[in-house]
Amino acid sequence: MNRSAILDMLRSRTGQFVSGEELGRQLNISRTAVSKQIQKLRQSGYDIESTVSQGHRLRRLPDLLRPEEVCPRLTTRILGGELHYFTEIGSTNDEAKKCAVAGCPEGTLIITEAQQGGRGRLSRGWFSPMGKGIWMSAVLRPPFPPQEAPKCTLLAAVALNRAIREVTGIPCGIKWPNDILCNGRKLVGILTEMSAEMDAINHIVIGMGINVNIAAEEIPPELREIATSIQIEKGAPVSRLDLLVRILECLEELYLAVRTGGFDAVLSAWRQESITLGRLVNVIAPDKSYQGTALDIDGDGALLVETAQGLERVLAGDVSIRPA
Ligand code: ADP
Repeated sequence: MNRSAILDMLRSRTGQFVSGEELGRQLNISRTAVSKQIQKLRQSGYDIESTVSQGHRLRRLPDLLRPEEVCPRLTTRILGGELHYFTEIGSTNDEAKKCAVAGCPEGTLIITEAQQGGRGRLSRGWFSPMGKGIWMSAVLRPPFPPQEAPKCTLLAAVALNRAIREVTGIPCGIKWPNDILCNGRKLVGILTEMSAEMDAINHIVIGMGINVNIAAEEIPPELREIATSIQIEKGAPVSRLDLLVRILECLEELYLAVRTGGFDAVLSAWRQESITLGRLVNVIAPDKSYQGTALDIDGDGALLVETAQGLERVLAGDVSIRPA
């Protein structure tokens, strides 16, 4: 396609002007047609400067999560085989579920620059500002029984925590079951949704919301006490693209390991990276709330909490955990 060919040429000479005439000659199109495509590229977020005398130049490589940027860098075999990219969408999980029902291949990714209706658990909202985070969902079709599905959330948490630590060096850890925190504030939310029969999973959608380059003042007041971003914790912005690529590699590596060797390795990695275990926590369930010490997770990924009344087995779902 002309547009991606133009982008490739500008990218290979980032920072330098390429004349409209040269671009047109290479692609065998008119200078006007070149200008039209440049305009479209600019609208989709590329920082391109155009002058009558010198032509066009890509000022800097963009930190966009467009397939043209992401796909050439992927080394994964399953994740990202199909990638649906949006500038803006309601919720990536909703879109992923639609694709899954329509029969998309395993590993299909939905990535957007912004979500208007991003969701947490229990229909809570997820703040997803334009170009500042990684808002994505992955469709998996794992061969294991539905009871194993909750552990996919733990798997995603381990993969994300690992990738974020590697790429950014910030001290993050996993809060049971579905969040990654840094200095007590939420950096990542994970929302796993499943469609299954009695004995088989049709598909699992793993939604991931990662606060990457959000400045402190951009966080809405009601979230200031509970949310943070990589930029805030690191003191500098990071490349969303680099982080995304590493996340997908870690996710796929763990997923393939689980498919052949089961969840044990994920569970023990989760224990090591958890910030919940060993802590006094408040468990907030719809029917009751209580306090206890989070001792461990069991083989199903349920949290074992020691209370004055005895051991409670807490299943993810409609329960929230808060530090006591
Ligand atoms: P909880 O942590 O309360 O169990 P969820 O995991 O479902 O809840 O996450 C949703 C909650 O996370 C929202 O109610 C809101 O308080 C908070 N939140 C929303 N958007 C963000 C964000 N971008 N970063 C951190 N926290 C957020």
